[in-house]
Amino acid sequence: MSIVVENITKTYGNQKALDGVSFSINSGEIVGFLGPNGAGKSTMMKIITTYINPTDGVVIVNGHQVDTEPLLVKQSVGYLPEHNPLYLDMYVKEYIQFNAAIHKVSKTRIQEVIEQVGLTPEAHKKIGQLSKGYRQRVGIATALLHDPEVLILDEPTTGLDPNQLVEIRDLIKEIGKTKTVLFSTHIMQEVEAVCDRVIIINKGKLIVDKKLNELKNNEQQVLEVEFDLRIEEQLLKTIPHLTKAVNVFDTTWQLTFNTQEDMRSTVFDFAHDNGLKLLQSSQKNQDLESLFRSLTKA
Ligand code: ADP
Ligand code: MG
Repeated sequence: MSIVVENITKTYGNQKALDGVSFSINSGEIVGFLGPNGAGKSTMMKIITTYINPTDGVVIVNGHQVDTEPLLVKQSVGYLPEHNPLYLDMYVKEYIQFNAAIHKVSKTRIQEVIEQVGLTPEAHKKIGQLSKGYRQRVGIATALLHDPEVLILDEPTTGLDPNQLVEIRDLIKEIGKTKTVLFSTHIMQEVEAVCDRVIIINKGKLIVDKKLNELKNNEQQVLEVEFDLRIEEQLLKTIPHLTKAVNVFDTTWQLTFNTQEDMRSTVFDFAHDNGLKLLQSSQKNQDLESLFRSLTKA
């Protein structure tokens, strides 16, 4: 286990930013940490990286407990904060060298991280001259300097244009091949694009911790089917587990079932038993963005 979060609560004054949150992340996983603004994502990431203490609960990173072994945790973790403060007057290389000195890592490592994050063409520039996408690369390069096992990225793609967004997502995927990555975002699509597991928090509480494919098949199953003849809705209602039937057009129907069992063969049997032919059948998953909205709305 790379990150274990046990029953974490954090209160600011009388406000609970995190309320009994638990999850764990295996080494090598890329996990999306999703939630609307104010959900508690940054707070959790600051606790995992030892920048703030929880009010209650335990976090273990790479076998080290954040409260008793913060230095060992810091050695295992690379962190890109949400509003990563950069010295705009510094040159890229200078800035990375400056951080390398803090971490006491070798000079050759500087060139390695610059190449790893695709900064080489911009490495001679001042940070202030860089686009937001390249500034994020500077932050990610710095987080990677001490070759940590775990990378914590707080909203790494917020504020990027569409091209930069795709580039940074690809970079995260690439880094995820060799490291455990937890990255936060408030965009569900991002999670779909980058990782296979999602943890959703809302108002300080964990509401979902699932593989994406499990989430997609969560409870409801939607099939779009085409028969060879027009039929009455009444007849469709004889299919077990059917909760909704929508006539999309002519002989095509969208059927919703409240079961995880694959209903395609049942629909096939239904067609056969009623003297119909099933011309097409495809699974339509509920789109994840609307699922996320329904899970996190007030
Ligand atoms: P997210 O990163 O998901 O947007 P945050 O972890 O930044 O959420 O914030 C969670 C809640 O805690 C918010 O309501 C925020 O206003 C509050 N909060 C965060 N940091 C502080 C702080 N230092 N002092 C008081 N309240 C805070
Ligand atoms: Mg935040």
